[in-house]
Amino acid sequence: MQKESESLFHRAQKVIPGGVNSPVRAFKSVGGVPVFIRSAEGAFLYDEDGNRYVDYLNSWGPMILGHAYPPVTAAILSRIHDSTSFGAPTRLEVEMAEQICRMVPGVEKVRMVNSGTEACMSAIRLARGYTGRAKIVKFAGCYHGHGDSFLIKAGSGAMTLGVPDSPGVTAGTAADTLLADFNDLEGVTKLIFENEGQVAAVIVEPVAGNMGCIPPAEGFLQGLRKICNTHGIILIFDEVMTGFRLAAGGAQEFLKVNADLVTMGKVIGGGMPVGAYGGKSEIMDFVAPAGPVYQAGTLSGNPIAMISGLTMLKELEANPETYRKINETAHLLAEGMAKELTVKGIPYQINQMGSMLSLHFTEQPVTSLASVLTSDTRLYGKFFHAMLKNGVYLPPSPFESWFVSAAISPEIQAFTQEAFRKSLREL
Ligand code: PLP
Repeated sequence: MQKESESLFHRAQKVIPGGVNSPVRAFKSVGGVPVFIRSAEGAFLYDEDGNRYVDYLNSWGPMILGHAYPPVTAAILSRIHDSTSFGAPTRLEVEMAEQICRMVPGVEKVRMVNSGTEACMSAIRLARGYTGRAKIVKFAGCYHGHGDSFLIKAGSGAMTLGVPDSPGVTAGTAADTLLADFNDLEGVTKLIFENEGQVAAVIVEPVAGNMGCIPPAEGFLQGLRKICNTHGIILIFDEVMTGFRLAAGGAQEFLKVNADLVTMGKVIGGGMPVGAYGGKSEIMDFVAPAGPVYQAGTLSGNPIAMISGLTMLKELEANPETYRKINETAHLLAEGMAKELTVKGIPYQINQMGSMLSLHFTEQPVTSLASVLTSDTRLYGKFFHAMLKNGVYLPPSPFESWFVSAAISPEIQAFTQEAFRKSLREL
C-alpha cells in the first residue's frame, strides 16, 4: 500500500514541476507513482506508508556506510549549534582539503562546491582557461551534471554534430562539445586529430555509472591518458560517482590511471550537498583568487556539509576493509542474480565493478550507450516494481548503477536474493 505516496505525489505535481526536484525520481522510466521516503537507517528505507525497503540506491551513491551512520550523525549534531553558515573561511575547510589531498591521487589543491554539477562545470571552465582552448570531448551516455556543455544528446549523427539535448542549451554551446563513444579509443583519437589544438579537456566517468554500470575496456583509460599527454589536453576524471566508492582514492587508485583534474561529489558530503574539484597545483592555481578563472559560492565549504563529509572520509580512510566488504557483497549479489536468471532463461547482462553494478535485459554485452539501448526497458520496469513490492528499492531506471552499502549484512543479502527469486517468478 502506497496511499500516502500517491496523495503526496498528487499534491507535489501541483507545486513542483513533475512533482519532483530531480527528474529521475518521478519513476518515468519504470512507470507508477514514486515512493515518498520518510526516513532511513542502515540498509533500510521507510516510506510515508510505513513500508520498509532494502536500499540499493543509497541516495545515488553517497550513503556508502548506510543511512544515519552514527559517527556522521553525531558529528553533524556536534556542530549544529555553532551556526549553519558563516560565508567566511573555517578550520573545517582546511581539514577537508587536507583530507582530500591525502586520499585522492594527484590532487594537490582542491576547491569545494555544492554539487557534482558545479564541480564538473567548474573543472571544464578551468581546463578552458588553463589551455586557452574552447572544445571538450565527452562520451555518449556519460553524465556530468546538468551544465549546458554536458547536455548534448548521445549517439545519433545529429547529436555528433552537436545538437543540444535540452531546449535552453544554445547551438553555440553544443558546438564546443565533441561526442565520442565510451570504450572507443580509436574514435576519440580521430576526433582529437580532427580538432587539433582546439580541445581543452577530455571528461570521462572512469567507470560509467549513468547508463548502468559500464567498466572501462582494458587500455581505454590508459589510452586516453596517452592521447591527452600527446596533445596537451587536460584529462578530467569525473569521480562524482566513483570517488571514495571504488576505493579510498577512487577510480584512479582502483584502476591505476591518473587524471589531471578530478571532480567529486556524492560520498564526499556524507549525504549533504557537496562537490569538489581538484588536481595539480599548477592547474588549480588558475582558479580565482589565485588565478584568473572565476568560480565562487556563497555556501561553498558550508560547515555542516564539511563536518558530515569529513567524518565520512575519515571513516573510510581508517577502515579499508569497508571496500573489501561492499565489493564482495556486490559480487555475491551479481553471482546470485546471474544464477537465477540463467535458470529462468531470461537474456541478461550483469556488469559489476567494485560496489557498483547493473542488470540489463539484453543478450549483447553492455560496453557503451549503443549496447545499453538494446536492453528491454519495459521488462526492467516490471522487474523494478516486483522488487519494490518484495521489499527492495533499486534505481528507478535501467540506465543507472546500483550502489551497495556497508550496511548490507549476510541476512539482508539473503533477503534480497529471496526477493529477487520471487520477483522473477512474478514477471
Ligand atoms: N557526475 C556524475 C558522474 C554523476 O553521477 C552526477 C550525478 O549523478 C553528476 C556528475 C552530477 O552531480 P549532482 O547531481 O550532484 O549535481
